[in-house]
Amino acid sequence: MSNIETPVRVRFAPSPTGRMHLGSGRMALYNYLLARKTGGQFILRVEDTDQRRYVPTAEQELYDGMHWLGLQWDEGPDVGGPYGPYRQSERKEIYQQHAKMLIDSGHAYYCFCAPERLERVRQEQMKRKEQPHYDGTCRALDPAEAAARVAAGERHVVRFKTPKEGTTTVVDEIRGAITVQNSSIDDQIILRSDGLGVYHLAAMVDDHLMKITHVFRGSEWLPSFPLHHLIIRAFGWEPPKFYHLSVFLKPSGKGKMSKREAADLMKDGFSIFVKDFEELGYLPEAVVNWIVLMGWSYDDHTEFFTMQDLIEKFSLDRFNPSPAAINFSKLDHFNGLHIRSLSHEDLARRIKPFFLKAGIQADDARLLRIVPLIQHRIGTLDEAVDMAGFFFRDEVTPPVEDLVIQGLSAAQSAQVARRCLEVLKGLPEINVETAEEPMRALVEALGLKPGQVFGLLRSAVTGQRVSPPLFESMAVIGREKVLERIERAIRLLEGM
Ligand code: GLU
Repeated sequence: MSNIETPVRVRFAPSPTGRMHLGSGRMALYNYLLARKTGGQFILRVEDTDQRRYVPTAEQELYDGMHWLGLQWDEGPDVGGPYGPYRQSERKEIYQQHAKMLIDSGHAYYCFCAPERLERVRQEQMKRKEQPHYDGTCRALDPAEAAARVAAGERHVVRFKTPKEGTTTVVDEIRGAITVQNSSIDDQIILRSDGLGVYHLAAMVDDHLMKITHVFRGSEWLPSFPLHHLIIRAFGWEPPKFYHLSVFLKPSGKGKMSKREAADLMKDGFSIFVKDFEELGYLPEAVVNWIVLMGWSYDDHTEFFTMQDLIEKFSLDRFNPSPAAINFSKLDHFNGLHIRSLSHEDLARRIKPFFLKAGIQADDARLLRIVPLIQHRIGTLDEAVDMAGFFFRDEVTPPVEDLVIQGLSAAQSAQVARRCLEVLKGLPEINVETAEEPMRALVEALGLKPGQVFGLLRSAVTGQRVSPPLFESMAVIGREKVLERIERAIRLLEGM
């Protein structure tokens, strides 16, 4: 099963009911990988039949999120394709026709029950500690009479007529066979009173008409899987293969994440929404690497994957059915690995927007020079600004206490800075090759430790206590500016 040779047709079928979260990203990714691996098609289908939960911005966020992750689809609402439309709200007639087919073949029936009565029945069933279910009132109606009531314009829905005897066995490719008593499967609504298909009908019909071969969906659909199987069989179709993927749990591993908790995460520089990761300084490559492993593995040790690796290595036999706790330190780990594997040009291009956003007009030539100095020192792209913003400033203003060498007075520190200045002034250029040796010699002559003197210089030249390597940084800043900044530090020390 791991080496499928034939091209698949797979679909990512999100409901545009809110922001695109990591679980959707992972779902889209698995579909994409399988399609690319087998040379098949990846279809995007927007399941927008629930008008009450529709969020207008959600569809665009999905497109943006998938583009950012690098998951291009072959067929979808925006790109079209031979099996469209790909937005369920535009397929209303198709669901109505199919509901009618099930009615005509005796697998479904019209139901006229008023919502208020159904609610009363539900309450009573709950009081009796029964699983709430439809009580079957309209199941027994004469089909001709029901059709006449519909023709007369009476408000109605369509329900699936589940067999009351026997059992149904379905196969989840991750968990194996599951058998349920048919009597436990409710006569669910498949067509609403507004004529829109419910997921149970719409998704099964679309998967068939769109020739879907493999379905990845969330494990929350497992309880209605037998119903779906019965619907597919009632049409006389062959079901696709179903994979019910594990859910994501919050970092503590206890339960799913609430909206409030998600908002709190953002304050700490994390999120569960795909698009936020861009702003937080994560690479899409790292997010892909991170989420692919939440529910799937290649073997028991390989961790670093590029998209190309994944297309080659993705398999259908290594899904993990247990829920995965979101682990943000893993994401940081992957982000570091992927940042380090970028070319200098690529990393320069990725950090540039963060400088611009911070109001720093970072030019490409200089960015390219500082990338080698920071590539191994940043965990997220935005950290490049904190680490290297000083390269682009005209002046830096170190806190004067950072200039005072530990164990020395301000006046003594100023004296040390003056000696440094003398040595550096004597050099036609300042870089590792020219400056390091004479500066170390000076440290020795002064009877100080390198950390003491270089700490002062670092603060003077970069304005911060943590920076890329000192002499490399000086080389980028340039001799004139370096000398100027040290002179300024001396003045600051003398003014203390
Ligand atoms: N629209 C459904 C959801 O968002 C899709 C489930 C499926 O992939 O079949 O949960």
